[in-house]
This record gives sequence, C-alpha cells and structure tokens, in this order.
Amino acid sequence: MVTQTDIGHGRGWLTPEAAASIRRLDAVKGAPWQITEAGRTWDRQKQHWDAYQAYLSGRGPWAAIALHPDAPSIHQRGSAIDTDQRETALLNEHGWFHTVYRDGVLVEPWHYEYDKARDKHLGQSAGGGGATTTPEEDIMNASQEKKLDDALRYAKAAYEASRQSASTTKWIKARIKGSVNGKSLTALLNEAIGLGKWLKLRIKGSYKGDSITKMLRDLGDRQGLKFTASMAVDPDPVYEEIDEPAEPIPDEA
Ligand SMILES: [Zn+2]
Repeated sequence: MVTQTDIGHGRGWLTPEAAASIRRLDAVKGAPWQITEAGRTWDRQKQHWDAYQAYLSGRGPWAAIALHPDAPSIHQRGSAIDTDQRETALLNEHGWFHTVYRDGVLVEPWHYEYDKARDKHLGQSAGGGGATTTPEEDIMNASQEKKLDDALRYAKAAYEASRQSASTTKWIKARIKGSVNGKSLTALLNEAIGLGKWLKLRIKGSYKGDSITKMLRDLGDRQGLKFTASMAVDPDPVYEEIDEPAEPIPDEA
C-alpha cells in the first residue's frame, strides 16, 4: 500500500518523497506548481484506462495513453504528475522526468515521473537554505501570486512607458529644431497659422470669390431657410474671434 501524502492546494497526493519534491518546487517558484493530476487510486486509473480504450476503438473522444490499473500506472504508485507547467529543466533538476515515448518521440509532454535517485535536492527542506521546515503560510497563495504578478507587470509597463516617453520627447525636440528629416514643426505650425489667416480672409470675403458667409446665406435661401444669427454659422464668423499668436513659435522647445 502506497503512503499517500497530500501535496496541498487541492492537487491530490504523492508518495512522501515525491510530495517533498513538489513542496521544494513550490518554494522555488513561490507558488503552487500547477498539477492536473498526481496520484491515482485503482478506480481512478480504471477510468483513465476505460477512456483510453474507448478512444482506441473509436467509441470515445481523444483520451491520453493510460495503463490498465493492474499494470499498474506510476500514477497509482504516487510517483507521477501531469502538469501544464512544463519547466522541464527545473523539473529534471528536482527528479521529475518525461517517460512516455513512442518510437523515440515524446508523446505525453505533460507526464513526468519522479526518480529520487536523480533528485539533486533530495532531503533538502522546502525553504532551501537553513530552515528545517517551510511553513505553509510562507508560500504565496494564488491570489497573492496574482497580485505580485500584476504589480510586476504594472512596474514593467510603467518603465517601458517612461522609456518611450523619454525617446518621444527627444524626437519632438529634434523635430522642432528641424534636425529630423522634413520640415521643422515650427515651419509646419507657421504654415498652419498661414492657413488660419487664409480662412479668416475667405470668411470675410476679402479673398477672391464669395465669402463663406454669403455662400451659406445663399444655400439657406435656396432651401427655404432663413439664415439667422441663431443658426450654426454666426453672421460675424467665429474665426474673427481667434487670436493670433503674438509672435511665431520659437525654434527651441
Ligand atoms: Zn500522467
């Protein structure tokens, strides 16, 4: 009978030695290692076996390779885990290895088996240095882990934004000076001011052609509308109200 040691966080059980290894891995990561399934009872293994047989015979959906429970599976011996956290180098260092190959090809990348002879941390406490035990409270729970993750992500984003902002400011300064290809921003702004002047003249009617005010009046008349001051366009055009800059934009930012 295999001694079942609960590995915590609802992840099931393993042998005491395999469970101790998982505890060390939890401590290395500061969070519970993701484990889809660990130790299996005979009945649980039988369910996997039945599902796999159904798949093989076309009676059921895809199912992972499973040994008959009388074989038995290493899962039943409490020395196998299925995980999506496939940090294989770290798992290897802690004695966990891929074992399911077909014709030399790894077919169950999620399945690792524990070999204590190859666990470089065998017998060490979960805390690593010095401590005899690592209290469960010292291991961050999922919520704490997420908060830390969020904080780190935020800090990283803020750092990237500040770098981006610094380089944007540099670009704008160079652009204003005109040291970047193309017209300087000063030149572009002065052109825009020139365009504003043209619009003012155009609305007043002192540029060639009808004034925009007159064109709008005519349009209103044609549509049977009385063009009045209460309508969108003031008879005294709003552009008249625009103050021009006292002097051109200086060349230095
Ligand atoms: Zn497995």
